[in-house]
Amino acid sequence: MSRLLPTSIVGSLPKPAWLAEPEKLWSPWRLEGDDLAEGRRDALALAASDQIAAGIDIVSDGEQTRQHFVTTFIEHLDGVDFENRETVRIRDRYDASVPTVVGAVGREHPVFVDDAAALRARTDRRIKWALPGPMTMIDTLADRHYGSREKLAWEFAGILNQEARELEAAGVDVIQFDEPAFNVFFDDVREWGVAALERAAEGLRAETVVHICYGYGIAANTEWKATLGSEWRQYEETFPLLRESSIDTVSLESRGSHVPVDLVELLRGKNVMLGAIDVATDEVETPEQVADTLRAALPFVDAERLIPSTNCGMAPLSRGVARAKMEALALGAETVRAEL
Ligand code: ZN
Repeated sequence: MSRLLPTSIVGSLPKPAWLAEPEKLWSPWRLEGDDLAEGRRDALALAASDQIAAGIDIVSDGEQTRQHFVTTFIEHLDGVDFENRETVRIRDRYDASVPTVVGAVGREHPVFVDDAAALRARTDRRIKWALPGPMTMIDTLADRHYGSREKLAWEFAGILNQEARELEAAGVDVIQFDEPAFNVFFDDVREWGVAALERAAEGLRAETVVHICYGYGIAANTEWKATLGSEWRQYEETFPLLRESSIDTVSLESRGSHVPVDLVELLRGKNVMLGAIDVATDEVETPEQVADTLRAALPFVDAERLIPSTNCGMAPLSRGVARAKMEALALGAETVRAEL
């Protein structure tokens, strides 16, 4: 990393109202066919320019071309039946109607590679692309074929690796795997989760990130968080394993959470994408609050390894709030950069 404290968002941004119903997850598209394809690309370009205008250093697509961070990727794979849905418990927290794995999973065509090339053409800054992690993918599906979470995760890891290699070839500098499931299924993380993640990232020259969070600011997550007590120590289970892993960077929540910031020390030697923006509230952080969050982490992470970020995606927020939060993130990082 050349510039100290390069800023980055975790992933999603709100979509324009002409593309999809705002402030909603899994929001239905408002366009169809060619209009939809063009609308998604326009929204991607807007998301990139909003980030650049706000002063964000590592630019993402804002997930403008996908309906959801997990299901859109899965929709493009063979072996998954979207008509034949089942209700499953997601991350042991809420029920959702999900597609079913009915045969061998496979990826016939690249899913996001053209979109990534479109983002690459928009900016000379470093660009980041997020993919779902293998464990989070299987947690968003019903399996009627493999009969083993581990086996299915391993298949997905191979597919993700193909996609990631092609994203890298399209000019993506940072590839992120979203694994909120790592905050729930600790035995699986230990037994095969980290290995499957490393398989997904195998052979990449791009910087690799794993994002682990307490979820979007939706009711099911907010209610779950209320049961976690005054100190959230879930990261304690996974960080020591990730520190030993081949993954370069770990993305975690901090601002507005009950995560003890000294847990960051468990990642010493890794890059840390620290959430200095709470995505579960419309209240916009001041740059000084962002700076305070970053300063609090600095005893536990080398400054040249700190990447100021958001706690999670901002899809459910309004566009104005999301823009203001990105500006606060950039300004807060600037303040601390000047102090270093
Ligand atoms: Zn997240």
